[in-house]
Amino acid sequence: MDRKTQLYVGGKWQPARSGDTFETIDPATGEVHAQCAAAGAADVDASVAAARSALVDPAWAELTPAARAKLLWRIGDLIDEHADELAALETADQGQPLAIARAVSVAGAAEHFRYYAGWVTKIEGESVPVSFPGVVQYSKREPVGVCALITPWNFPLMIASWKIAPALACGNTVIIKPASQTPLTTVRLVELCEEAGLPGGVVNLLTGGPVVGKALVAHHDVDKVSFTGSTAVGREIVQSSAGNLKRVSLELGGKAPAIVLPDADLEATIAGCLQGALLNSGQVCAAYTRFFVHRSVSDEFAERCARAIEQMTVGAGDDPATDLGPLASAGHLAHVQSLVQAGIDEGARLVTGGSTLDRPGFFFQPTVFTDVRDDMRIAREEIFGPVISILPYDDESELVDRANDTEYGLAASVWTRDVGKAHRFASAVRAGTVFINMPNPVDAAAPWGGFKSSGWGREMGKHAIELYTELKSVWTNVG
Ligand code: NAD
Repeated sequence: MDRKTQLYVGGKWQPARSGDTFETIDPATGEVHAQCAAAGAADVDASVAAARSALVDPAWAELTPAARAKLLWRIGDLIDEHADELAALETADQGQPLAIARAVSVAGAAEHFRYYAGWVTKIEGESVPVSFPGVVQYSKREPVGVCALITPWNFPLMIASWKIAPALACGNTVIIKPASQTPLTTVRLVELCEEAGLPGGVVNLLTGGPVVGKALVAHHDVDKVSFTGSTAVGREIVQSSAGNLKRVSLELGGKAPAIVLPDADLEATIAGCLQGALLNSGQVCAAYTRFFVHRSVSDEFAERCARAIEQMTVGAGDDPATDLGPLASAGHLAHVQSLVQAGIDEGARLVTGGSTLDRPGFFFQPTVFTDVRDDMRIAREEIFGPVISILPYDDESELVDRANDTEYGLAASVWTRDVGKAHRFASAVRAGTVFINMPNPVDAAAPWGGFKSSGWGREMGKHAIELYTELKSVWTNVG
């Protein structure tokens, strides 16, 4: 074990008030590689109090928008300056291949800070012509207040940035709580926020498990919760946040369909679908998981996916030859294994994969099932692993209903040369993002979020500015 990390409350690094700690594990080895402070109720209270006082501290509250923008830009630059170090830390803590950590996680984090640095000076109100003589009205956007930001373990650095950057752009103060499996890059990001010159109390960091998240969500002096994680926890958050009716935004699970129409270019489709399914070993909320393929080509599609997958190297993220890293934790590996077993038990045909690797760490073979039915657990539940399920169809008229037959609605994709069909599907599918003939990236400028049980609200673009502000209407009698 080589690292010890602390909490950051009111501008000071400190152990948990209880002195408790927890260990994090390198998923490529199964060995403990850091010991982190385990926050408790007293730390939650202290961080909320620190964020509350920083909210009105002139050092933050009276900073001009231009100065706030500079701070955000500086954080983006510091992320870039420490890109190699951050990527290595993400790989060690989360497992993702180093190239992904560098190109997706670190670059995405830096870009989010720069994108929202641009917004700080453009958060505008408006003036509308109210029908009262001698009255002038204008509206303005103000910070929501103290924001609790709770993140998952699949892209810890990037998702922390999706939340911290717009929250700060709007003048809020925050408490960030990363997942206990993968806290290390978030700790480093908060150190970089400090180095950039953020006043104490503006960004606070609590490491720990669900108990910390629960205490933040229930806290009466927290004004907003922004949560990314599972749908089950999202439901709990809605209930426990009701006390003070705090603002809640939720980015939750997914079960994205990939609709492959008979006219699609099969080679390009398979390459794009595999990318969309297997990035970060399938631990992606928008991962393509349900592949609807015409029965006349479904066997060929399955075989070609399997052959392509068998060429991929599963290994430690810091090995340059690795295409797919380990799963993030032993618990998650067990979850993926149990759903794959359910697929076999329910009669899906295993084409390739299906097992763990015989080595330390949490490795699972990329897996292809075909002849999957819509009612099987592998077609309904979020696996969040390297598992592709092929569901043959006979008639294109089935596709919209079958794609929509899920509680989730985060992402969907369609593969076809027919532009009209592609856009008709994009209109009919109930999903927050639809990708046509491409894998599933995110971009700081484009809205991100889910229909149905995939969430509430939209992150990114101008939409995150709406999430992190209250709109105030001011009326003036000008006589
Ligand atoms: P999770 O819901 O178990 O945990 C997420 C975070 O919430 C962690 O920090 C955890 O400690 C905390 N937490 C757990 N219980 C809590 C409670 N009752 N109250 C408050 N906080 C609590 O999710 P996970 O397993 O870490 O992440 C995987 C899930 O995240 C998947 O379902 C995935 O689809 C989803 N996800 C969604 C998006 C998106 O943008 N929609 C992005 C990434 C991941």
